[in-house]
Amino acid sequence: MTGIEASPTIQVIAALTASALYVTTYLSFVRLLRYPRNWRLPSFPASLATGVLAALTVALVSLSPDGIDRPALAISVGFVVVVFYIIAAPAIAFRPASRQVEFLAKHGDYAGLWLLGPALLAGLATPNIKLQAVLAIAMAIELTWFLRQRWAVRRRRLYPLKNIDLSVLETQAKGDLVAFRRRHGIRELVLSKGAISWRGCGKRTPPCPFNLYVNRLGLNTAPCCREHMKELSHHIAAGLREMGVVHWLEGGTLLGAVREKGALLDWEDDVDISVLLDGEMTWHRLAAGLAERGARDGYFVDLFEKKGFVSISFDPPKPWPFRWERNRFRGEIRADIAIYRQAISHGEAVLERRRHKGAMPATESGAYGVPQEIILPTSTVPFLGGDFACPNQPEAYLHMLYGDFRKIEYTFVDAGPAKARFRIDTGGDPPVR
Ligand SMILES: [Zn+2]
Repeated sequence: MTGIEASPTIQVIAALTASALYVTTYLSFVRLLRYPRNWRLPSFPASLATGVLAALTVALVSLSPDGIDRPALAISVGFVVVVFYIIAAPAIAFRPASRQVEFLAKHGDYAGLWLLGPALLAGLATPNIKLQAVLAIAMAIELTWFLRQRWAVRRRRLYPLKNIDLSVLETQAKGDLVAFRRRHGIRELVLSKGAISWRGCGKRTPPCPFNLYVNRLGLNTAPCCREHMKELSHHIAAGLREMGVVHWLEGGTLLGAVREKGALLDWEDDVDISVLLDGEMTWHRLAAGLAERGARDGYFVDLFEKKGFVSISFDPPKPWPFRWERNRFRGEIRADIAIYRQAISHGEAVLERRRHKGAMPATESGAYGVPQEIILPTSTVPFLGGDFACPNQPEAYLHMLYGDFRKIEYTFVDAGPAKARFRIDTGGDPPVR
C-alpha cells in the first residue's frame, strides 16, 4: 500500500464512529416515517437532516488517507438505499402502494434480514473496517427488530370471529379460508377444529395491518382493533372534556355514530375527532394537555403543529430513541385530531381546517370550512356506549362531507373487495361502477 497506514487504534475509532453515524441516520430515518404513515409528505428540514446524516455515513466509510475507496462507496450507498427502502415499505403502504412495496411491507418484520447474506459477502470481500462496522450494526438492528416482533406476537390473545365479520371474511375468501389465509399471509387468522378466530393485537404486540385487511382485502375491522378504538375514543373525549376543548366526532366516526346507531363503521380504520382552537384554547395548551394525558394513560401522542393535527395511537409511549421505531409497524390503532379555527369566508362565519376532508368546500383563505351554525353549539350523540360531542346539525355536516351519507360507500376499500361484500352489508346488488 502506498498511502499512509492508519494505526489500529485510529481504525477502531473510525469504525465505531461510522457505526454510531449509521445508528443516528437510522433513527432519523424511522422518525421521518411518521409522515407517510399519517398520509403526509415528510417535512423538508427533517428530510434534509436525514439526507445529510446518510451522506456523512457514506463519506466516512469511503474516504481514507489514500483517497476514495470506490468499492466501499458503491457498497455503502447501495446497502443504505436498499435497507432503508425495506424499512420504509410498511409506512409507505399505509396508502395503496406498488406491488413491490406491498410485498416488502407484508414481510416488514424480517425483510431486512434478507440482506444478511449480501452484507456478509461484502464484508468479507473488502478490507474496509468502517464498512464492515456499518454492515454489522445495520444487520444487528434488523435482527433485533425481527426478534422483538416475533417475541411480541406471542402476547396476542384469541378473539372469536362471528356474525357479519365471519360472513364478510368467507365472502372475500370465496369459501376457501385456508387458501385465502395462505395467499395473503394472514397470520392472525386461526382456523382450528371448526372454530374461526383472530389472534388479536394488544398494547404490547405489533398492530394488525389494517391497510391490508380492511382496505385491500375488504374485511371487517378485527374485533381486537375495534375494542382498542373504543377505548381510545373514550380516552380522548374524556381528556378534551376535562380540558374544556370544543370538539366533535368527525368524518367516518361521526358517520358510524349517526348511520350505524352509535357503532363504528364495520370497516373503520381510524377514529376522527375535531377540535376548535380559539382565544382560550391555543395549540400549545391543547398539545400539552393531550401529551400529558397520553403519557399518563399509556397512549402515544404525535404532534404536527405546522400540519394542524395531532395523532394519538393505542400503543404505549416507549423510551427514547426506540419510540420512533414504531413507525416501522404496518398498522396502527389511531385517532386523528384535526384542528379548526374560526374564520370569515365570503362574509359568512365558518370553522375551517387546513387539510381537505370529504367534499368539504374550500374557504376564501384556501383552507376548507363548514358554516359555523352547523357545528356550534355542539350537541351529543350516543357512541360506543357513551355520549360523545357531535356537530349541532350532524346530518347536515355529514351531507356536506359525503352527500347522500345514508348510501353505503366504501371510500377506503379497494373496488373489487368492496363489490364482493356489498350484498352482505346492504342485502342488495352493488351499483354498476
Ligand atoms: Zn387488532
